[in-house]
Amino acid sequence: MIPYGRQHITQADIDAVTEVLQSDFLTQGPAVPAFEKRLAEFTGAQHAIAVNSATSALHIACLALGVGIGSKVWTSPISFVASANCARYCGADIHFVDIDENTGNMAIDKLRKKLEHARHHDTLPNVVIPVHLSGASCDMAQIRFLASEFGFSIIEDASHAIGARYQDETVGNCRYSDITVFSFHPVKIITTAEGGMAMTNNTALADKMRLLRSHGISRDNKLMTEPSHGDWYYQQLQLGFNYRMTDIQAALGLSQSMRLVQMVQKRQLLAANYHQLLAHLPLRLPALDDENLSSWHLFIIRLNDKSKRKLVFDALRAAGIGVNVHYIPIHTQPYYQQLGFDWGDFPAAEDFYERIISLPMFPELSSEQQQYVADILQQALLT
Ligand SMILES: *Cc1c(COP(=O)(O)O)cnc(C)c1O
Repeated sequence: MIPYGRQHITQADIDAVTEVLQSDFLTQGPAVPAFEKRLAEFTGAQHAIAVNSATSALHIACLALGVGIGSKVWTSPISFVASANCARYCGADIHFVDIDENTGNMAIDKLRKKLEHARHHDTLPNVVIPVHLSGASCDMAQIRFLASEFGFSIIEDASHAIGARYQDETVGNCRYSDITVFSFHPVKIITTAEGGMAMTNNTALADKMRLLRSHGISRDNKLMTEPSHGDWYYQQLQLGFNYRMTDIQAALGLSQSMRLVQMVQKRQLLAANYHQLLAHLPLRLPALDDENLSSWHLFIIRLNDKSKRKLVFDALRAAGIGVNVHYIPIHTQPYYQQLGFDWGDFPAAEDFYERIISLPMFPELSSEQQQYVADILQQALLT
């Protein structure tokens, strides 16, 4: 089976992990800060907080921004459920902004409309979480503009988008957001097996997230409510979690990050090749955009005839091609239906869902494999 996504592991990665295993620290050693420093430098963000998943990063990002019971958080219905769950962990109300049918990202015009409606009803969001679907950035300058007009904070869910560019700047620099979150799950661009990171330029938010990832515990005398009892002393200042990344994971991530640019370039070549191979078929392809370079976590095709989606999907799977569908609209999940959402609420997202198939996309995908995917796809579509 050709998978839809797969990690790329080199001997250098294995050596980096082995080195940690033979060192003094498996966790809370030097590898985590080294990985954080590397991604802060790579993105240009001032602070980086490594955690054990992007889901954890989204959770503490919401908490750091003050999301709690009664807060309102908006995200995209076309995402992994974690983009919405993070608000629910905090007891907040979640809502969705329908997508742009061409990009699958939150639609700016629909966001503005919904904000105007919400202002009228006094239900404006505290936080909006745009999701950079498949690694192509949302229009962050526009979202920032709306944030200053309507007064909300922004968390970029860039789980797909490390190594991507927006207006020719690195995604994760937080120029237009309060916090940006990356995922290092093995199907994503670089991996730590499980892992995530929150980037920010705001020192107060960074401090809050660092406390929250480790039980709310601090050893900083300046934060303590009474003089230190001695070198062993720490204080739990608030209720936090054990969301720490291990040094084993961070060493893998750091080693992977050294190939980040090349791996994204490889994905860009694969995307361009799919464009050549599939241009003549009755389907729409994700745009190749030079100014806003996608990191191509996913390559999502949209069939012109949605009644063929299951047939085409099944034909690809039967031919050993591990296609997938990203994503089932979050608001249609039973948990979200219990909260009052239903089919019909976000028609563009639902129409998108019914047409899409994610083709294999990972650095070691060969052009022969891509040709094979194209051949099977053509057969399934044109017979
Ligand atoms: C993968 C993913 C997440 C969650 O990442 P984990 O690291 O597995 O917690 C969140 N949002 C999006 C859009 C994702 O694709």
